[in-house]
Amino acid sequence: MTKYIFITGGVVSSLGKGIVGASLGKLLVARGYKVSMLKLDPYINVDPGTMNPFQHGEVFVTDDGAETDLDLGHYERFTDTMAGKLNNATAGNVYHRVIEEERVGHYLGGTVQVIPHITNEIKRRITLLQQATNPDFEIVEIGGTVGDIESLPFIEAIRQFKIEAGLQNAISIHVTLLPYLPTSGELKTKPSQHSVYTLRSYGIQPEMVVCRTQVPLGADERDKIALFCSVPKECVIECKDMKTIYDVPMALEEQGMTKIVLDLLKMENKTPDMSSWINQVNKMKNAKEELTVALAGKYTSLCDAYISVVESLKHAGGEFGYKIKLKMLATEECISMEDVKEKMQGVDALVVPGGFGVRGIEGKLNTIRYARENNIPFLGLCLGLQCAVIEFARNVCGLEGANSVEFDKDSPYKVVDLMLEQKDIAGYGGTMRLGSYPCHLIEGTKAKEIYNNNETIYERHRHRYEVNNDYIETLTKNGLIISGTSPNGHLVEMVEYPKNDYHIACQFHPEFKSRPTEPHPLFMGLIKAAISQKKKAKELCK
Ligand code: GLN
Repeated sequence: MTKYIFITGGVVSSLGKGIVGASLGKLLVARGYKVSMLKLDPYINVDPGTMNPFQHGEVFVTDDGAETDLDLGHYERFTDTMAGKLNNATAGNVYHRVIEEERVGHYLGGTVQVIPHITNEIKRRITLLQQATNPDFEIVEIGGTVGDIESLPFIEAIRQFKIEAGLQNAISIHVTLLPYLPTSGELKTKPSQHSVYTLRSYGIQPEMVVCRTQVPLGADERDKIALFCSVPKECVIECKDMKTIYDVPMALEEQGMTKIVLDLLKMENKTPDMSSWINQVNKMKNAKEELTVALAGKYTSLCDAYISVVESLKHAGGEFGYKIKLKMLATEECISMEDVKEKMQGVDALVVPGGFGVRGIEGKLNTIRYARENNIPFLGLCLGLQCAVIEFARNVCGLEGANSVEFDKDSPYKVVDLMLEQKDIAGYGGTMRLGSYPCHLIEGTKAKEIYNNNETIYERHRHRYEVNNDYIETLTKNGLIISGTSPNGHLVEMVEYPKNDYHIACQFHPEFKSRPTEPHPLFMGLIKAAISQKKKAKELCK
């Protein structure tokens, strides 16, 4: 029988509820339990696919092609399980289905209302994931903050769900912020008390309160929270800012959080096996050496926009005992090669991540050119591959004005073009080439070597455009290698420039499959090449 754990958030958003949920998931998985995780988001977009990453952070793509909230990335990385379409639902998504049902006459004669129709649909989503995966625990995180108007139907749905499931089968955990006032040196509990009052006024008494804090929680604060939030003292859990998010499971475990959860749900406590996780986290934390990796993107002031890429770099760096120092390159400022030269000083490797739209494209092309001409290890992801091809076409093949039709419909050399199956699609949202597809690796290429000589690999996609096959001959004649294609050979999946130590790009997003305990080979390859160059340079200086 599945047990349910609901996670709500108080005081502010972006508290790290996802990390708390993922950490608890990890601690249960490490005990041999099967865990499924669901994110319910109260906004009206049908999925985050159409949202600006600057507002909402990265769009995480699953194997089955769902465009989801970035918290699913944390869930996958922490619990090492695969998420999919059933693991994320938004208010828009829920309403969409209820309205569709209404239009086909499902509720004929009835008034369709938030309660019970919307709340029933939310409960159905919770059950749907349970039925599909049959886990020991389903952890359900409600996005946003308690008290928001838009999250009310979700809170009401979990109130009903808890009652229906029974006391021993469902609990709720409230994650809240304790602001620290440096002037008086105080940690304040009042906003959290009020947040729990609000939650209670909706009929939910949390079984546990997790306190996000900058400084350790004192006995006084713990007592106050226990008293005013009506939870036993041991159910007030401190969740302090950590050196790395991967430390959070251990910090929660030290306070006995999992044991309390298991006791409340009448489940057996087992000894968790966290050895490989702890080992890897220690490698990341204790890394003495440092590598500077430039990330040439558009949303440079918000790391969350590229969170999976950033985490993948950290995983790979940790594997080799290196800390990653990120240098976010604002590509709009890389107008001339002089600008790029200045900005690339001290950079050991370059990553050009995925993206949409023309803004900053010329700067991306310039950074890739600089990396190619100066043998700086480079990894291009999705748009990064398209840019690598455009750059090569322009500067090596002499195709002046070469471009992607996404950026210049009148380009004389459309080296990146709309995919055939995309030409008649009008709408946005779920209409790209999405999810896991096989890629055939070509014999004798660096790509194949990096992937352990596998013939076929599976990676996740999210794109509308592709390399135009009309230009493949020109590109390859001039020295670019097509190292991976779709199994029928029609779509270019990977390219590489063999003259450099590491100049590789892929049409897919390997960053979605990297794990702390299993860094992705393409990121490992990049870091390895950068380290070896750095060591060589050091030798030369001696
Ligand atoms: N904009 C490009 C396309 O749609 C690349 C997409 C991406 O980088 N995810 O093909």
